[in-house]
Amino acid sequence: MSFADLGLSPELLRAVAEQGYSEPTPIQAQAIPVVLGGRDVLAAAQTGTGKTAGFTLPILHLLQPAANSSPSPARHPLRALILTPTRELADQVGDSVKGYAKYVPLRSTVAFGGVNIDSQIPALRAGVEVLVATPGRLLDHVQQKTVVLNRVDILVLDEADRMLDMGFLPDIRRILSMLPAERQTLLFSATFSPEIKKLADQFLRNPQVIEV
Ligand code: AMP
Repeated sequence: MSFADLGLSPELLRAVAEQGYSEPTPIQAQAIPVVLGGRDVLAAAQTGTGKTAGFTLPILHLLQPAANSSPSPARHPLRALILTPTRELADQVGDSVKGYAKYVPLRSTVAFGGVNIDSQIPALRAGVEVLVATPGRLLDHVQQKTVVLNRVDILVLDEADRMLDMGFLPDIRRILSMLPAERQTLLFSATFSPEIKKLADQFLRNPQVIEV
């Protein structure tokens, strides 16, 4: 099994090759085709399994403009939202997104708490298709109207069990209530606790369950 077998675009395969990855990890081999097919995913995967590329690569593929499409419009509506529990993880996922998107004309940025919100505003105002954020800071940006959620097609809840442990459930519920009902939702969690199952039952639609 190679990354090319998974049906990813040449631009993404080039970025993957530059990372030095020779073959997909098990979570990537399982998740990438399912996400490309448009289905929701409920995945049990620990850190270190390659889960970040498992959701980022197919998202970039789905959002990548066709090679023969007209030049990108001036506006860059937010299409994919990746929620993480901590600023460290947001930063790390944000770096991964930038690396994988190197040859794809999509913009991304990160927004997390604990730093001055004003420093995050110029990038958001300029427009990004992919945003990696922690829940509380995302809501601050929504309140300030620096982030608009009505065009989001894909939501990722990364390390969802940690987000619940950290008390983010009310924030996550609020965010979910603002997203279009017609969307793809990917939930990644180290464990499938009853709370995670409940969250999945409520917010995922007929998900493919993946355990590695
Ligand atoms: P993650 O579980 O997403 O935090 O990824 C863990 C580490 O594995 C990161 O340093 C990635 O760069 C690396 N990685 C991801 N996918 C692959 C792959 N297919 N082959 C080798 N390393 C990988």
